[in-house]
Amino acid sequence: MGMEWKGPILDDHFHLNRNGRFLDAARDFQRVGGTHLVLVHCPDFSSPPITRKGHSEAYGDTIAMAELVRELGISVRVILGPHPAAFAHQFENLGDAAEENYWDSIETALEYVHEGVAHGIGEVGRPHWKVDEDIWQRSNTLLLETMKLAAREGIPLQLHVEGESDETYPELAEMADSAGLARERLVRHYAPPDVSEKNTCGLTPSVLAGSGSIAELMATIETSSHGFMLETDYMDDLRRPGAVLGPKTVPKRTKQLLEAGLDEEILWNTHRDLPERIYGP
Ligand SMILES: [Zn+2]
Repeated sequence: MGMEWKGPILDDHFHLNRNGRFLDAARDFQRVGGTHLVLVHCPDFSSPPITRKGHSEAYGDTIAMAELVRELGISVRVILGPHPAAFAHQFENLGDAAEENYWDSIETALEYVHEGVAHGIGEVGRPHWKVDEDIWQRSNTLLLETMKLAAREGIPLQLHVEGESDETYPELAEMADSAGLARERLVRHYAPPDVSEKNTCGLTPSVLAGSGSIAELMATIETSSHGFMLETDYMDDLRRPGAVLGPKTVPKRTKQLLEAGLDEEILWNTHRDLPERIYGP
């Protein structure tokens, strides 16, 4: 067909690890046409920080990594926050102190946003595994309060939430409304490829760009509220190669979507207009 995409290509959820492939992974992305990354802070899952200083250092390293990736000529936005898989476990050990630590982590991230070196908070959310009712309630309360903060600050949240339930999107939309946060400012990371508004309730889906996503995206895009972004959730973990999508996937999928007949205007929205609207230019 000879169609070629000349526009930008953004991966909306990408992790890097100094002990992983690190800059080589970013180079792979760039080599196949990738131009923009949203670098999401990856916590130390075994022992996430429990002091302000610890949060600040951990985030500072992600910001430093972003700077190195920029030197390759890739545009990078940074998302910082307490990953639910790391922090919800602290409730089991730290009790109420876990909640204080969560806010320390959020406030530290916010300081970096204020400095202009981070562009949103994430990934935050609630546990995506079975937890005690008490932890579930606490997680929901913290998430609602975090949405209120995002509304006050005028910043987006990248959400990491449970995947299977039909109630997820409607519940999140309702929480956003009661927090006074525009629904589109909630970016659902690892979103399934049904981007119809009926499904997303007006949240911003960051669709996991698996090979099966093309048909569903094509089938639902016409009824979407404001489009979608694409992501790999690349983990850069040498112990789990192939456990997640590789760094070249979003550029590859973008070309395939174009070949499948997706309107170029939609791709401009996916890779430029929507990210600018959500994260700023
Ligand atoms: Zn992630």
